[in-house]
Amino acid sequence: MLGWSGLVHHYAGATDTLRYVDFSLGRGRHLLLRGASGAGKSTLLALLSGLLRVQQGELEVAGTSLAGMSARALDAWRGETLGVVPQRLHLSDALTVAENLALPALAAGQRADTARAAELLEGLQLAELAERRPHQLSVGQAQRVAVARALMRRPRLLLADEPSANLDDDHALHMLALLLDAAEREACTLVIASHDGRVIEALSAREDVAEVVLRGMQPSGQMEVPTG
Ligand code: ADP
Ligand code: ADP
Repeated sequence: MLGWSGLVHHYAGATDTLRYVDFSLGRGRHLLLRGASGAGKSTLLALLSGLLRVQQGELEVAGTSLAGMSARALDAWRGETLGVVPQRLHLSDALTVAENLALPALAAGQRADTARAAELLEGLQLAELAERRPHQLSVGQAQRVAVARALMRRPRLLLADEPSANLDDDHALHMLALLLDAAEREACTLVIASHDGRVIEALSAREDVAEVVLRGMQPSGQMEVPTG
């Protein structure tokens, strides 16, 4: 479902490289990507979501091998496979809640599925708020809208980068519960990147969450075993 081997990413101009220890996620499990700032969480999320091309190694997401896919194929794959909950939610205040849900499909040149939107708004207790604008919502309501938007196209993988950033304890745990609940209902895999102790504590208590701790940049030659 989700895994990588020999995965290395090198940013142009950097002397060191990001090397990801081989990993494979068991069926039905979710993934917590840990590691301090700079450990390589965002880079891995960008690779998992096809926003960065795989330079070296293998990366499999939802049954698709991403290495070697063209940028165009990755764009199509991303729309069909991924739901993303951005750190600051990125809801548009120029649009209503319902229009925010429709936006990703419209941006991809597709028709928005209004029945799906209604179902999600209902399920997330947002039906009464469909015509409001995000600035008229509470933090918890806005979080639910962002999760609903991510689920619109029935993703196989739900990604959240630092979902608790800038949130007080109640809202941080609310966000986490929403993500876990959404993943369960939709039967999709949840990938959370976080270095927040509150998130780590809550997730490491769960049997169905695997953890990967990332270690950041390493000298380009470090992994090579000297021969002779
Ligand atoms: P995290 O999300 O865990 O904070 P990142 O994936 O953002 O980690 O960064 C991992 C490493 O890659 C850091 O050392 C960072 O400085 C470096 N890095 C990230 N983006 C770039 C870039 N565009 N160019 C060069 N180095 C980068
Ligand atoms: P925890 O979140 O409790 O630390 P891990 O995800 O780290 O659990 O898993 C513990 C061990 O079980 C690891 O060695 C991992 O590779 C292995 N493992 C995880 N999922 C499966 C699975 N579905 N089948 C077999 N082994 C698994």
